Amino acid sequence: MSAVFIISAPSGSGKSTLVKRVLSNDPALLFSVSYTTRRPRGLEKDGESYCYISREEFQARMARDEFLECAEVFGNYYGTHNSVWKRALEEGKDLLLDIDVQGAQQLKERIPEAVSIFVLAPSRAVLEQRLRARGEDSEPVVQKRLAGAAREIRNYARYDYVVVNDRVEQAVANLEAIIRAERLRRERMEERMRPILETFGEIL
Ligand code: ADP
Ligand code: 5GP
Repeated sequence: MSAVFIISAPSGSGKSTLVKRVLSNDPALLFSVSYTTRRPRGLEKDGESYCYISREEFQARMARDEFLECAEVFGNYYGTHNSVWKRALEEGKDLLLDIDVQGAQQLKERIPEAVSIFVLAPSRAVLEQRLRARGEDSEPVVQKRLAGAAREIRNYARYDYVVVNDRVEQAVANLEAIIRAERLRRERMEERMRPILETFGEIL
């Protein structure tokens, strides 16, 4: 059974940076490419970072119940397509989702065994610095994201794990440790256990 890892963080915390690193080190993880109505930023590519669609198309897909979860974030719609979960199961991979706190809550209701991880910058000042350093948002957008951060951080207690993104290497190692430990849960080890138990025939 595939594991599902939800990663949420206030914008600018460094979540995309960490997710990219974790994905490049771990071919058994499938990244859930979301649908969004926001425009591509910087070097983002359609179908890779997101699938970019119009508000009309998003609403039509929502009406057809195509999303596992969806939410409006900073004035744009974002959603996880139903097909990603099916694809992870078919490919025997674990699914990694980068979604906001509203989406994380919806997904936990649909997939209770999903593991949720909240990523935090070490302080508000550092978060502000990172938002500006990224250089992709205008001043009003930076202010909107900072106000949003304060709201999102209040939800950290709903998550299973917290990773503070101070040094990238340490934060990546902590994310990888969470993923490794979750994969070793007894429930996920059943398939691996079966042939081992068979060698102890009399206890079965
Ligand atoms: P998010 O996906 O959470 O919005 P990004 O990954 O785009 O954030 O990171 C925001 C900015 O902070 C980027 O310029 C990124 O290079 C930088 N950054 C990310 N993690 C760290 C870190 N641990 N230390 C310093 N800068 C970082
Ligand atoms: P950004 O525009 O900076 O890429 O993302 C803004 C916010 O939307 C982030 O908090 C990100 O996690 C969230 N997000 C991205 N994709 C999805 C999704 O499919 N569903 C939900 N609920 N949030 C998403």
